[in-house]
Amino acid sequence: METKQFKAESKRLLDMMIHSIYTHKEIFLRELISNASDAIDKLYFRSLTDDSVGLNKEDFAIWLYADKDAKTLKIVDNGIGMTKEELENNLGTIANSGSFKFKNENKLEEDNQIIGQFGVGFYSAFMVAKKVTVISKAFGSDKAYQWESEGVDGYTISEAEKTSAGTEIILELLDDTEDEKYSEFLDQYRLKSLVKKYSDYIRFPIKMNVTHSRPKDQSEEDKEAGKAPEYEEYIEVETLNSMVPLWKKNKTELKEEDYKHFYTEKFFDYNEPIRYAHVKNEGNANYNALLYIPSKAPFDYYSKEYEKGLQLYSNGVLIMDKCADLLPDYLSFVKGLVDSEDLSLNISREMLQHDRQLKVIAKSIEKTILAELKKMLRSDREKYEEFWKVFGLQLKYGVYSDFGMNKEKIQDLLMFTSSKEQKLVTLDEYVTGMREEQKYIYYATGESAARIEQLPQTELVKDNGFEILYLTDNIDEFAIKTLNTYKDKEFKSVSSEDLGLESTEKKEELKAKEEESSDMLAALTEALSGTVSKVVLSQRLKTHPVCLTSEGEISLEMEKVLNSMPVDQKVHAQRVLEINPDHEIYGKLKALSDSGDKEKLGKYAKLLYTQACLIEGMSIEDPVEFSNLICELM
Ligand code: ADP
Repeated sequence: METKQFKAESKRLLDMMIHSIYTHKEIFLRELISNASDAIDKLYFRSLTDDSVGLNKEDFAIWLYADKDAKTLKIVDNGIGMTKEELENNLGTIANSGSFKFKNENKLEEDNQIIGQFGVGFYSAFMVAKKVTVISKAFGSDKAYQWESEGVDGYTISEAEKTSAGTEIILELLDDTEDEKYSEFLDQYRLKSLVKKYSDYIRFPIKMNVTHSRPKDQSEEDKEAGKAPEYEEYIEVETLNSMVPLWKKNKTELKEEDYKHFYTEKFFDYNEPIRYAHVKNEGNANYNALLYIPSKAPFDYYSKEYEKGLQLYSNGVLIMDKCADLLPDYLSFVKGLVDSEDLSLNISREMLQHDRQLKVIAKSIEKTILAELKKMLRSDREKYEEFWKVFGLQLKYGVYSDFGMNKEKIQDLLMFTSSKEQKLVTLDEYVTGMREEQKYIYYATGESAARIEQLPQTELVKDNGFEILYLTDNIDEFAIKTLNTYKDKEFKSVSSEDLGLESTEKKEELKAKEEESSDMLAALTEALSGTVSKVVLSQRLKTHPVCLTSEGEISLEMEKVLNSMPVDQKVHAQRVLEINPDHEIYGKLKALSDSGDKEKLGKYAKLLYTQACLIEGMSIEDPVEFSNLICELM
């Protein structure tokens, strides 16, 4: 028979398995049981609508058989089984395995640690076995096949005998060495405790013949004589697992580790979650849920491949692996599962989308997650900030998307860097810290806090001793504009026309100056026509000569963001060039204007505009002209 080679990456993983450190080896059992359980899940689900399966719920089981003489351990299931092609594809190439995909991306770093953290599937069998035989018959097929392998050298497939659908995995255990006692995996107590430890919540019974001993019946004489009884051995079938899924257990029975372990294993995340919640909801929606907030974004989170969703169970039976309808987009990072009695098992995926009960559950889940986040913000600020750095963007996106439908729910969870101490603050903290005379919540936009810090537009607001929120993400200003107000306080960009800070006295003064220099401003505006909509005297500048602001709905920052998107139509902010009337430059411009030197004034206008662009962190349209102008004036 021809021996087939494993695919290259499978070889690598196999090699890694074989050389993994001993303490991790025991997880092979968990992996094989979990596969068996998945296979039974599939056939059980099928049996609900297909009588030809011919099995009832209580008929499904996983069996363990340990044979001390032959040194083999057998794991048997009556699940869906595998066809010849499936044997080849599923066991010949590990690349199909979800866990390995994850590992590939992570450059196989710290292999051993990964193995210890969560499973690597079927191949883990080679950690304890010198030879693995898989005999399987797929449901609906009349042929069975046998897959055999002794590790890296490859595998063979041949026809086999098997009466009913399901899979048998036979492990020929490695020989014991001084440090590694593989034979303990044949010991019934060891097997029992491994099942308890890793597979207790598997929904189908894991059965094993367990040998017990009991005293033999004694004759009356012996009894009277007080003779010690003889013992005899007998065999009893035992179910080793409690079959209660973790989420159906009492919270008091469970430890933090149980939840975390379940998470890393089930959701292939090597990092512990930053928060979890075990929810038991009764009332308008009856469900149990385990919800997890990861501490890091999954590697594919920002790619199209990422699918949001929670696992959906109907009374303990998995009906969907990623039910997207259970999570709003802005909470797409949440992992977990929901188990409800309110959903019919036979519901199709298409029907599920329109299911009213599912919508009620989804609403309740959303509420719960938001409440958990609020709790975290209140009670563990440090952790919340960590969370915010990873997933804050999503929440801001949540404020902005769906026409602001969810903004009220999310607004208390938002954070921005503030000009005071450059620390993250919530909107509530900002408002609480507002001075009595302060009318608005001020914000400034820019690439980074350091950049914003230097913007001339922030001068006046800071001089008044008011805090400014620094918006550094593209989405920020859109989110703020969607909010419009927070606790009745309006948001105000430091670049907006009226900052509500100027005294009437000052305003009068400015008005007088504007009148006095109307010719000059008109000439400057003309020189910059097509670039700015107007040139005005500024009331916000203290030390800087000029700055660039905008009027109308679209700010300069929004223009940048919108134009970076792949759409044909570009938007334009209406730019306003502001000149500081208290700066030396003002006198100079005024003098030029009065002397009628329009040409020179025009050149100054261009220079000042370009300067303002540079301060804003915008690229300049004609750097050569700018450079020439500077030389000329020098
Ligand atoms: P994973 O479970 O992460 O997909 P595995 O390497 O454990 O990776 O298994 C690969 C595939 O082999 C499974 O997805 C499943 O399709 C199939 N498989 C493994 N064990 C069984 C089994 N006992 N019965 C049916 N199919 C199985």
